[in-house]
Amino acid sequence: MDRRNFITTSIAAAGTLSLCSIGIASDPRKTHALSLSFDDGFKKSFYRIAEIHESYGLKACLNVIATGHLKSFNTEPKWIPQNLLGDFNDWNKLKERGHEIMPHTWEHLNLTEIPVEKAKENIQKCLNYFEENLSGYTSAGAVYNFAYNASTPELEDFTMTKVSAIRTGGWLVLKDAKVNAFPISELPLRLGCWGHGPDFCDDYVEHEINRFLAGEGGWLILNLHGLDEEGWGPVRSHYLDNLLRRLTKIDFLAVRPTGEIVKQISKK
Ligand SMILES: [Zn+2]
Repeated sequence: MDRRNFITTSIAAAGTLSLCSIGIASDPRKTHALSLSFDDGFKKSFYRIAEIHESYGLKACLNVIATGHLKSFNTEPKWIPQNLLGDFNDWNKLKERGHEIMPHTWEHLNLTEIPVEKAKENIQKCLNYFEENLSGYTSAGAVYNFAYNASTPELEDFTMTKVSAIRTGGWLVLKDAKVNAFPISELPLRLGCWGHGPDFCDDYVEHEINRFLAGEGGWLILNLHGLDEEGWGPVRSHYLDNLLRRLTKIDFLAVRPTGEIVKQISKK
């Protein structure tokens, strides 16, 4: 769908909606919330993602690996090569510019494939590291983003005693629903997301967002990684720029980081 059709379709969809608030206190016109939730912490990509968001007055949703900046980090060298990752100096700078930095994982293991006590220890080490190294971060209010969107109810419950929300596979926590429901009133939240890879995911993102905008509303979280040549299922930077330009013209849509929406829900 080209840009003009996208916007036309979106505006047509707005006309058929019962415009109930999704719970974003700052703007009751919004029936749809979208979070583009970028994982892993590619230095070049994350600065560029931040810049593109800034062009449209938006905050980026960036989730990073606690130990990714250490030379010893070697999980998934094909998709997360250590030498492309930023460090907490970068994450503090981006946070200072208003972007959201949230915990993704301690060392990017699939926590459903290791002993549960080790998995819990890794989650706790990750949160501790963020508390110590990311300025202004507190786990109360945070969103923990499971690596591989892989979790079990036990690990979700454990993590939800420490943070305000967890993000995991939508297929795990939302069954057949394709969006997180609104209104939501109680924390902590179990949030579902979706993604596509390992090739470029531009077409997938376009399709999913169009389908979401044509629907009745709710909160769609798409899990992305790097831009252009970086990461699993990358998105092209010119596509992201064009997408945000179009999305910011849709008055019933809020494009926000996950933690910001959680914070607004908790204020209700
Ligand atoms: Zn990851």
